[in-house]
Amino acid sequence: MKFEYNKPLAKYTTFRVGGNSDIFVTIEKKEDFYNPIFSEILKNSENIFILGGGSNTVFSDNGFRGTVIYMNNRNIEKVSENSEKCIIKCESGAQIMPIFMFAKKNSADFSPFSTIPGTIGGALAGNAGVPKMEISDIFIEAELFDIEKQEFITVDTTFFNFVYRHSDLQSDNKKNKYIIWSVTLQLQKRDIAEIESETKEYLEMRKQKQPFGKTGGSFFKNPQQGAAGMFLDKAEFKNYKHGGAFFSEKHANFLMSDGTATQKDIIELQKIAQTKIFEQFGVTLEREVRVLDEFGKLTQ
Ligand SMILES: Cc1cc2nc3c(=O)[nH]c(=O)nc-3n(C[C@H](O)[C@H](O)[C@H](O)COP(=O)(O)OP(=O)(O)OC[C@H]3O[C@@H](n4cnc5c(N)ncnc54)[C@H](O)[C@@H]3O)c2cc1C
Repeated sequence: MKFEYNKPLAKYTTFRVGGNSDIFVTIEKKEDFYNPIFSEILKNSENIFILGGGSNTVFSDNGFRGTVIYMNNRNIEKVSENSEKCIIKCESGAQIMPIFMFAKKNSADFSPFSTIPGTIGGALAGNAGVPKMEISDIFIEAELFDIEKQEFITVDTTFFNFVYRHSDLQSDNKKNKYIIWSVTLQLQKRDIAEIESETKEYLEMRKQKQPFGKTGGSFFKNPQQGAAGMFLDKAEFKNYKHGGAFFSEKHANFLMSDGTATQKDIIELQKIAQTKIFEQFGVTLEREVRVLDEFGKLTQ
């Protein structure tokens, strides 16, 4: 485990935006949770932020006044298998792509998720998914560190109350009270050639429809009335620029940085879009990307 101070956060996020964190702790082993300095930090758990791959997070330009806990636990193992299913256990800092590769080697299908950036911990916390499937669909159980009790617990799906791109772990009553240590998933067995060909399709679809660059993916959740990107496109937000932030030409719901964007640019552009979409269509766009103030609270 490693303790660092005044640590720049931008490079830990896919947006590449944000100032420095007062304290930055890298976690690699279960024993790290019982380190006396770390235990002291956890006593002030309202001042922590748990970071996975940073692909759904925008830190404040002023950084973070507290401790960022960076999950760098990446082990993946097979728990059991039969001719139909394979059960794997992934530590929360494991990235999606290595999990996909591990599964494929075992003829187990994780292809729907293969193109989502970030870690399995982040994916579980936010119930990441693609149109036809969410992580909650293949989830069995997770090991969490219970910060108050200072012990590891095992929980199943009822703990999380998964809904579209959200779990209870992000609600006020559970946020910052638990840290995901590992996630157990049940995958369907499938022919490796089929897995490869489906993954190729997912990749092609991404390449065709989504831009590559500094972004957090879909910026707004899809409202009930339709796709957020469709409303943004109709309101001519494609390529709309504000400071260093802009909506992609390729996909209107991809808010990007040109490399110079500040969080301020991103929030201002978000508000311009929300106001216009509401005025034009009566539709409220809710953010999917988590934009944080310097105390870790979600900004408006
Ligand atoms: C190009 C691009 C495409 C994307 N496409 C998709 C897509 O198709 N579908 C989709 O759902 N998302 C998509 N995303 C968004 C993002 O990749 C997902 O939300 C991803 O699951 C976030 O994982 P992360 O590890 O990066 O999370 P982070 O951004 O690091 O964290 C996200 C949240 O999870 C919490 N968290 C992370 N790890 C833990 C842990 N161990 N314990 C407790 N809480 C934790 C954090 O505190 C934070 O609240 C895309 C993003 C990009 C940049």
